[in-house]
Order: sequence, then C-alpha cells, then structure tokens
Amino acid sequence: MNPLFATMPTSIFAVMSSLATEHEAVNLGQGFPDFGWPDDVVARAASALAESNQYAPMLGLASLRESVAAHYRRHQGLAVEPGHVTITSGATEALAAAILALVSPGDEVLLFQPLYDAYVPLVLRAGGVPRFVRLAPPDWRITAEALDRAFTPRTKLVIFNNPHNPTARVFSADELDLLAAACVRHDAIALSDEVWEHVVFDGRAHLPLAGRPGMAERTVKVGSAGKIFSLTGWKVGWIVAPPALGGPIAKAHQYLAYATPPNLQTAVAYGLGLEEGYFAGMRSRFAVARDRLAAGLGAAGYRVLPAEGTYFLCVDLAASGLGVDDMTFCDRIVREAGVAAIPLSPFYAEAPATNIVRLCFAKKPETLDAGVHALARAC
Ligand code: PMP
Ligand code: GLN
Repeated sequence: MNPLFATMPTSIFAVMSSLATEHEAVNLGQGFPDFGWPDDVVARAASALAESNQYAPMLGLASLRESVAAHYRRHQGLAVEPGHVTITSGATEALAAAILALVSPGDEVLLFQPLYDAYVPLVLRAGGVPRFVRLAPPDWRITAEALDRAFTPRTKLVIFNNPHNPTARVFSADELDLLAAACVRHDAIALSDEVWEHVVFDGRAHLPLAGRPGMAERTVKVGSAGKIFSLTGWKVGWIVAPPALGGPIAKAHQYLAYATPPNLQTAVAYGLGLEEGYFAGMRSRFAVARDRLAAGLGAAGYRVLPAEGTYFLCVDLAASGLGVDDMTFCDRIVREAGVAAIPLSPFYAEAPATNIVRLCFAKKPETLDAGVHALARAC
C-alpha cells in the first residue's frame, strides 16, 4: 500500500458534507449552489442522451473543444485553438493529469498557501517537492519578496489559483505580472487553476495568467463547467495548453479517465456559447447572495473578510471576538448549532492552525437566512 494514501485524511469537503447530513444542518460548507443553473443547458444534456451514450473521443468532443477555444477567444482575448484543448472529467482530473505529466521526482513545485486541497497530494504522488508562498489575511497579497524567497533554480512548476479558493481573492494585474516575470526568469511552467474565472464581483474582470507577457507558451490553464454553469456534479473540465505541454498531459489523461460523458460535453459546448447576459446574470445573483450573507453575519457580530470572487466568504473568528480555533468551531457548530462551514486549516500544508472559516453563499435567500440564524446562536 502507498503510505501517502494510507495515512491521508479524508477531504474536509466530504467530512463536513457528511456531518451536515448526519446533523440535518444547513450546509454552507462544500461549494455547491442550491439555485441558479441554466435550464436550457440541463435540457440540452437530457436531449443529447438520445444522440450518443458511447465513449467520447479521448481528447473530448470536437464540438466542445471548439466551443472552449471560441469561449476564451471571445471572453479573455486568448489565442486558443481547438487543438490546445483536452476535455477532462472535472478540473480535478485536469489537475491530476497535468501534475503527473509535468512533475518528475525531485522537481520543486511552488504553491500558494492557503491552497485547494487536491494540489499537495498530487504533487507528492508525482515525486515533486512542494515549496510554499504564504498569503496573509486580510488582503492575501502576492509580493515580489515572497516570490523571490520561494523560487529556486529547481522550481519546475508553479500551481496558481485565481480567483482563489478559499480566500475569495481575485489577484490584480500587478500581482499576476510579478508572478509571470518570476516564471519567465526561472523558466518555470505555470499550472493556472481558473475554475472560478466567471465568478467575479463588483465589476472585476478575470485576467487569465496565459495573457500576461511571456506566459502563453508556459501556461496550462484549467477550467470547469461545474462553476461556470452552477452544475458542480457534472465534472466536465478541461486543460488549455500549448501542444508541447498539452501532449504529455493528454497521455496522462488517457489512463486516468480516458473520456467524459458525451451528453454532458454536448450541453457544455452549447452553454459556453450563451450570450453575455447569462454570465452577467449569474455574477449578479451570486453578488446579491454574498451581500445578504455578509450583512447577516455582520449583524450577528461576525467579522467578515472581503469576497472578490468564488462562492465563498471568510470569517475571522479572532477578530469576531471568538477565542476558538477554526476546526473546533466548525465541528461544534455543525453538531450544536445546525450549520456546516469549512475551516481554513486543511488548506494549509504547513503550520495549519487558523482562526478563519469559509462559508458558501451560493444559496437561496432562505438557506442563507437559516444559516445566519444558526450562526447567530453560536457567536
Ligand atoms: N480547483 C478549485 C480551486 C476548486 O475550487 C475546485 C472545486 N470547486 C476544483 C478545482 C475542482 O473542480 P471540479 O469539480 O471540476 O473537479
Ligand atoms: N471545490 C469545492 C469547494 O471548495 C468542493 C470540491 C470537492 O468537494 N472536492 O467547496
């Protein structure tokens, strides 16, 4: 047995969702919406079941590869061709394929902490050596000094996530340019997890890392239909990469999932072509939900950190006057107050204890109000 997996904890998302079910709690933990998906995209998936139920092509349906490329040309000004796109079973499989293909034993991999929980186990499985840049609350900024300390001549890959889960940061053009310049200087590849690219608020625009100077030829971009269409169960993702990087990643993909359900691919190909009104409507519905949760928590005495993108906002327990760590707080509120949240500690590979918890606001008003009511009792 591989000791990495034998000793690994269960993902915090699975732990908290199962505790939420067990205690019949309002689930503001794992990031999934309970409203707002486009009915026409779901209907297209249903009608496509009459068209094909056999293996899709290994790299993805031609219609979806074309639609992903056209989507990024239209929305982000990237020069993407269908040949740069590989369809995967969710962004999770895209990350696994990319890390397995790009990292050789002993390569250093730079990661930003706090980090999405899938990254470090995959890097370790590939034999990589993680090195961390720690982002600090409340502004979670990337600085030139922190990058200089973390990059070394052995840095092979940088795993970047923007918009950022769990901090809800949308990194600025200046921060992206610092990172891009460091990647170019050290001849490193960037694996840019941009699954939240459409979930940005207050007039922000998503800036793809591949669009920064010198980055098109060294960036592997990861996307997911789950976040774009509020359909997280679909697990249709993709990588976009220049052929020199995308070729080996496709080889890893062929022995991880090989292919992805064709009806879901057909529906996503349709959805990516929707008019701008769909994307703007989704953003404004989630911004209203964010503001509702933030206002309710603020009135209940919680100190809420800014949420620039994603489905999440963070609460600082210490600044809220609560002398309790995040793990204890989340365990207590799901059992005693009937609301599930996600502690930030599992998003750290080193020195994990934090006083910050993450709440998902991608919920109907009544779900948010029930969550606030329960949290008001726990304050
Ligand atoms: N990366 C990040 C940053 C995420 O937040 C998530 C899930 N929300 C994923 C990857 C996984 O996406 P998928 O569900 O498409 O596998
Ligand atoms: N990305 C989702 C979140 O951050 C959960 C994904 C998962 O359950 N693996 O909540």
